[in-house]
Amino acid sequence: MFVIKVGGSTGIDYDAVCDDIARLVQSGQKLILVHGGSSLTNEVAEQLGHPPRFITSPSGYTSRFTDRRTLEIFEMVYCGQMNKGIVERLQQRGINAVGLSGLDGRLWEGKRKKAIRAVDENGRKFVVRNNYTGTVETVNTALLESLLAAGYLPVLTPPAISEEGEAINVDGDRAARATAVALKAETLVILSNIPGLLRDFPKESSLIPEIPKAQIEEFQAFAAGRMRIKLLGAKEALDQGVSRVVLGDARVENPVSQALSGQGTVIQ
Ligand code: ADP
Repeated sequence: MFVIKVGGSTGIDYDAVCDDIARLVQSGQKLILVHGGSSLTNEVAEQLGHPPRFITSPSGYTSRFTDRRTLEIFEMVYCGQMNKGIVERLQQRGINAVGLSGLDGRLWEGKRKKAIRAVDENGRKFVVRNNYTGTVETVNTALLESLLAAGYLPVLTPPAISEEGEAINVDGDRAARATAVALKAETLVILSNIPGLLRDFPKESSLIPEIPKAQIEEFQAFAAGRMRIKLLGAKEALDQGVSRVVLGDARVENPVSQALSGQGTVIQ
């Protein structure tokens, strides 16, 4: 059993990802797909006149500022075009995929962080309110297991749901991590538009092939921006029982099989 997260950055080859997943499922592998949609969301938000805004936490993690309008645009893209585009591709390849957001069946539940601390470019701290974000804390494994048992392939996307039943934007990598932990997956594959963690970003020849679990924090020094969250998610996954996390490239042929065979950055 493994969980695959495919990002939403430009350059990702969703056809190659779906070709590979179809082959793996047809050969009897059990898996769950989680996807992102960040770059298309930024584009659509610009076009709708509500450009994206990002906030940085005091510990250096960036996230999307999500007011109610942003959440609506986010849902249009993630639950709409991205999710249905992937389900359609899988259906064309003979895989009975079912697309769900974390809201559906309370699949991903977490706490909404109504007020979050942030820092501006001058290092000044401030509090952001009006924010619909949170972190996944529980996963409806019964729903996922019944879909898998009936032969469906779950294709999952943020948002998640708060305890009060509100939609909350959650980080896709960390939602995938929570899903892998809850289903006791052996491997979590995180595919993006880069070969893995690069020592000297963006030089692709500087790929770091392996990170021992105990050294993840030291390797955070090489990661900037969103890559920091991927490493944080990897650490959480390994701390909570997943044996291996692979950061792999989603721009190549057979991206999932390549990552499973150790191409990319293997963290274990
Ligand atoms: P996705 O949307 O596919 O999940 P993200 O954009 O969230 O992907 O994260 C991947 C991005 O992290 C890369 O495209 C790259 O811009 C950035 N990054 C920052 N530092 C590094 C690094 N050291 N190695 C690789 N990528 C890095």
